[in-house]
Amino acid sequence: METLTYSRISTRARCAMREHLHYELRLRPRQIQWSLDIGSSFHAAMETWNQGQSEEEAVAAALARLNEVAARIKDPVELEKLPLRSVQLEVMVRAAIRRFPKYEPVVVEHEFSVPIINPRTGRASRTFRLAGKIDLVVKTPDGGYWLTEYKTTSQNLEQFRMRYGLDSQVSYYTLAAREALGIPIEGSLIRVIVKTRTEPRRGETLDEYRDRLEAMYTQESDRLLAEDLVVRDEAQLELTRRELWAEVQTRLFEKRLGVIRRNPQACSDFGGCPFRAACLQLENWQDMYYVAKAQHDELSMETQTA
Ligand code: SF4
Repeated sequence: METLTYSRISTRARCAMREHLHYELRLRPRQIQWSLDIGSSFHAAMETWNQGQSEEEAVAAALARLNEVAARIKDPVELEKLPLRSVQLEVMVRAAIRRFPKYEPVVVEHEFSVPIINPRTGRASRTFRLAGKIDLVVKTPDGGYWLTEYKTTSQNLEQFRMRYGLDSQVSYYTLAAREALGIPIEGSLIRVIVKTRTEPRRGETLDEYRDRLEAMYTQESDRLLAEDLVVRDEAQLELTRRELWAEVQTRLFEKRLGVIRRNPQACSDFGGCPFRAACLQLENWQDMYYVAKAQHDELSMETQTA
């Protein structure tokens, strides 16, 4: 039985070859992707905080994760950015913890694996299951149950919110969480923090820069942080069930054909595909990657994507 996670499905939606390189060959780029790695380190901090640990422990968890990633950097120019990125990360973690209220936790860190059902016959796929990890389900004061997701973004909040209606992560996780936990989850409580583009001023020390960023996240907290409830009703979940079934059928069909499609339209997305060298088998491409132990980063502690 093969495991499909949301990340794997969304990677394939972008490019099937990229999915193959990441999930089948388990290649991971050696080059740091600051944006993703800050997101994953921020996520580690929120997990620590959700487990009931303190702000200082959450900051330590974030910095430990970023240092882990940085240990792989070979380029001295990139390595020089680490102290600055660490300060930015620390300020974001503290701002989130001070801004977001604690609701009653109902489920903390629950790994799930649920069948994927044919909506016509009601039978489960014999090849694929949907799996993942639910970080947190909370009960809000009005009695609603919500998955909690933490996001970092480079967009402003209005641009970021444009995705909510079609956000497939919310849809897949709501569907899976209802099935796995038997709780009438209403959707996701999304906690988003805007990443700063503010850089240190000439002659400013890192401590001065940290103080200035902290003041900015406090004074402009409505512009930089938000907590939104994103609902998924039964009609939307039914559509997601059908899409999930189409996903497994497409995979089976292409596997039978023996084809791994490439999507050149996705090569330049988000600063460029990190698998370009492997995809094109450029000279010495093997040196640019390492092979991960785990197929699914989100189900292991090895690395996490944002
Ligand atoms: S370089 Fe383009 S075609 Fe190749 S894996 Fe990346 S997105 Fe796909």
